[in-house]
Amino acid sequence: MGKVKGNWCVFLIDGILVYNGEMRKYQATKKSLKEDQMPEQCIFCSATLPEKSSCQTIHEELLNFEALSAIPHLVHFLHVTCFMIQHERYSNEALVWAQSMLRANLDEHMTEQRHLQHLRTVGKNNPSRTWKFNRAEDASPLPKIAWSLTIVDVAQQAHNVEQYCERVKQWAHSTLQQMASLLL
Ligand SMILES: [Zn+2]
Repeated sequence: MGKVKGNWCVFLIDGILVYNGEMRKYQATKKSLKEDQMPEQCIFCSATLPEKSSCQTIHEELLNFEALSAIPHLVHFLHVTCFMIQHERYSNEALVWAQSMLRANLDEHMTEQRHLQHLRTVGKNNPSRTWKFNRAEDASPLPKIAWSLTIVDVAQQAHNVEQYCERVKQWAHSTLQQMASLLL
């Protein structure tokens, strides 16, 4: 952590300000120093966010990556569903739907073709649906879950198609395991 301004230089090392080669105690309290250095956390999924980023931004970047890399729709579907679950976007009815969709689509016999057929019959656009997908603003708050995998972990694999698909499936498995308390 250091920056050069004109011909002088400031460094902050362990709370000590190094200024023009001179060492001075950093005046701020320890608390504010800590807050400055603390990485930001997502208020929904509690992921530790990379600097100046958000889960929404990462989600949009991954959608781009998926489109450019011809990622199978099944993997795209798992990504969107897990993102929506972990960011409290689903109504209670949609959470029940999402749980059954994750279960069905994580079946080892699920192929891309069967996934698309399955979506046509029980997908989001099913005309017999009477409830809303989006969680209402005044809906009861959901319990907090310490998700073992988040979109930030998944994004780390977004440079290799095979590793990315594998990671999204792991994310979907862990989300399915951990989401039970949202449905109580
Ligand atoms: Zn998040």
